[in-house]
Amino acid sequence: MRTQVSITVDTEFSIAGAFRDRTVCPVAEQRVWCVSDYKSHGLGYMLDCFAQYGITATFFVEVLNRHYFRRDPMRGIAEKLHAAGHDVQLHLHPCWAVFQHEDWRERARVRTKPSIDAFYGRAEDESLKLMEYGLETFHTWGLPTPTVFRSGSLHHDDALYRAQARAGIPYSSHVGVAVFDSGDEQYRLYSGRHERHGVVECPILTFRDWKVPGKTHLKSLTITGSNFAETRMLLEQAHREGVEQVVILTHPFEYVHTSDQQMSRMRRHRVNQRRLARLCEFLSENTDRFATDGLSAAAAMPLRAESSRNVLLKGSLLKAMPRMVEQAAYDKYAMWRLKHQPVVPWSTSTGLPNLK
Ligand SMILES: [Zn+2]
Repeated sequence: MRTQVSITVDTEFSIAGAFRDRTVCPVAEQRVWCVSDYKSHGLGYMLDCFAQYGITATFFVEVLNRHYFRRDPMRGIAEKLHAAGHDVQLHLHPCWAVFQHEDWRERARVRTKPSIDAFYGRAEDESLKLMEYGLETFHTWGLPTPTVFRSGSLHHDDALYRAQARAGIPYSSHVGVAVFDSGDEQYRLYSGRHERHGVVECPILTFRDWKVPGKTHLKSLTITGSNFAETRMLLEQAHREGVEQVVILTHPFEYVHTSDQQMSRMRRHRVNQRRLARLCEFLSENTDRFATDGLSAAAAMPLRAESSRNVLLKGSLLKAMPRMVEQAAYDKYAMWRLKHQPVVPWSTSTGLPNLK
């Protein structure tokens, strides 16, 4: 049986400090395309890579930003992704909903429970409303109805799953134990597919990065966090152990280094770009063992008894060490280069003027 490998891309804009600082604006397209030297080092790079190696990726597209960006810049992006044959699914960050209100600055400043961007602890009916807005948006855009939902910051609790079941979205990918852990054992899901309140959850792969006496370090699988050798080892282990799917998390902005939230200086992130390319190449050369049909297809496969096994795969400290060294050195070098680089001329036009 082939292991389904889903490269999932959270595709979202950035508040970029606008809740705290009146002088800055949220950032839209530039956060996704990441253009510098007239080239898209973010989404553009990723799309070229996927096309070259015949990979179908899953894009979790954030839609609540439409409350701020009335010109709806995410629409064009979602349409492009769909036209390129990718799997376009739903992502929501509740913080954008505050822009519905004239007094959003005041509201954003007040400490609320749940916090402004949290799904964890949010009332079921409120979460349902946000999901319904998401479904309606896909309808307005003329895109297929999403069947998989990923919450902002991987927040989840029982109420979220119940709301999602009511919204009629059958599959989710809200869990990445090393990113968000509510402490609820029910959601300590490392791999596999698991039914929760009528929704089938497909967690981002979480593995044991390393273990020394007294400490175990868990990690969720991302491009920016693991190098190709580590990822390859985990994929092979997953296949050997009959783990039916591996979900990997990434974002377009992982493929650049930026100087600040407004992304006024930017450089391509060669290390992460190479990791993605090598992963895609590997998957394209091993189609006898690995399939890349997108998460919505992988999630919809008939559930078997083995699907709900919660296998914790094991990384290796020997492989993690060189990655940590390389990363630290490269990040330091990139930040030094950024300081001596001119400001990207169009960065100021990436946000819209503040709402009146
Ligand atoms: Zn997100």
